[in-house]
Amino acid sequence: MSELIGAPRGVYDILPEEAEQWQWLESRLKHVIHLAAYREIRVPIFENTDLFKRGVGETTDIVNKEMYTFLDKSDRSITLRPEGTAGVVRAYLSNGMHRLTPPVKLWYFGPMFRYERTQAGRQRQFHQIGIEALGSSGPAIDAEVILIANDCLEAVGIKDCRLELNSIGCTDCRPRYRDLLRQTLEPKLPLLCEDCKERFERNPLRMLDCKVETCQAQFVNLPSTIAELCQPCKEHWDGLLSALEQTGLKPVLNDRLVRGLDYYCRTVFEFITTDKRLGAQSTVCAGGRYDYLIETLGGTRTPAIGWAMGLERVRIISDAPSGSGPSVFAVSCDEKAALSIATRLRREGISCDLDFAPSGKPRGLGKQMEKANKTGARFAVIQGEDELASNTISIKDMKSGEQTRIPAQELVPFFSGKVGTPAN
Ligand code: ATP
Ligand code: MG
Repeated sequence: MSELIGAPRGVYDILPEEAEQWQWLESRLKHVIHLAAYREIRVPIFENTDLFKRGVGETTDIVNKEMYTFLDKSDRSITLRPEGTAGVVRAYLSNGMHRLTPPVKLWYFGPMFRYERTQAGRQRQFHQIGIEALGSSGPAIDAEVILIANDCLEAVGIKDCRLELNSIGCTDCRPRYRDLLRQTLEPKLPLLCEDCKERFERNPLRMLDCKVETCQAQFVNLPSTIAELCQPCKEHWDGLLSALEQTGLKPVLNDRLVRGLDYYCRTVFEFITTDKRLGAQSTVCAGGRYDYLIETLGGTRTPAIGWAMGLERVRIISDAPSGSGPSVFAVSCDEKAALSIATRLRREGISCDLDFAPSGKPRGLGKQMEKANKTGARFAVIQGEDELASNTISIKDMKSGEQTRIPAQELVPFFSGKVGTPAN
């Protein structure tokens, strides 16, 4: 046999049992998002590299270190999308959606690609679901966007999550904060990592996001972003806090939260879990306002806000049930009879499986019952020689072990109300 080909580092297969958990998660999350009238947009998995360079920003880790970029056969630089927002904004502009009545409320779901150090909860291909609201400057829409994230997490059974919230101001007030931060951090520069030294020059706010512990230890008694907000940013911030308060959602204010992407302004937030199963990767959802991005990508200045949720992390701490078996397993000495029972049930929306013997010849009823047991079927429907002769069917409740016999034509009515259609 030739040698097995393995998967590349950082990617993985979602096997059936886990895929069923994904289906459960996706349908619950979509439901919550649809309740707030966001509509799905499906954008390409690869885009021109410039979109991300301009959109995500040249000083970000994503663009500097993490992109899967390659030349296609016509020597165009292409990048597998590392995140969803830039592509959604590109689509919004190239399809004339900026002419629709604002806000344009969109959501997306799909794989993202980042060349990262892989560990639990950090893959090179991972999945995000995200929402974007384009065309309203808030703060009410900021509150809506944040509340949807909160409701999404609750809908999949995630409770121990806190919402960290900050405002990083706008192009009017951020330079002042940036200068203050530089003044405070300059004396500490020799103690900081090389990345932070570079961030100090190019984008000092990004230093606060540094993952190196010795750097974080130096970041004490820093100026507060909130204290430096200009009047309009302060009003926006106060408006957001009061809108959240009215809904009962209590944020944890964190004036060190800056987020890793260049395009954010004003509101930034993260949902962070204390669930130990995620180890260091505790942020499950992150987002913010990006009022300058649309202009950066060639549109007119348009206020916008959104978030992205990492589904690998969400799955681990959610209530997603692992796959359940079919409602019914059809057992018969005649494969065609079993298939015809299964077909009748399936057409009524009742899930049903049966045994397909490797040899092509039906196996004994005992072996088939073993298979029924293994699949986790709720009921077994049995048609042996006896039942076939008398045009009856025996039904075994696989939980209680109880067995009853019914006329064959009562098969479908027997199950009505006893089993549902499979969870989707
Ligand atoms: P981190 O600080 O963990 O690297 P980030 O700031 O790079 O996160 P975002 O770009 O804001 O993350 O992505 C939003 C969410 O997507 C994250 O909170 C996380 O749940 C998920 N995510 C990001 N990168 C990965 C990855 N490599 N593998 C799995 N999930 C990820
Ligand atoms: Mg990252």
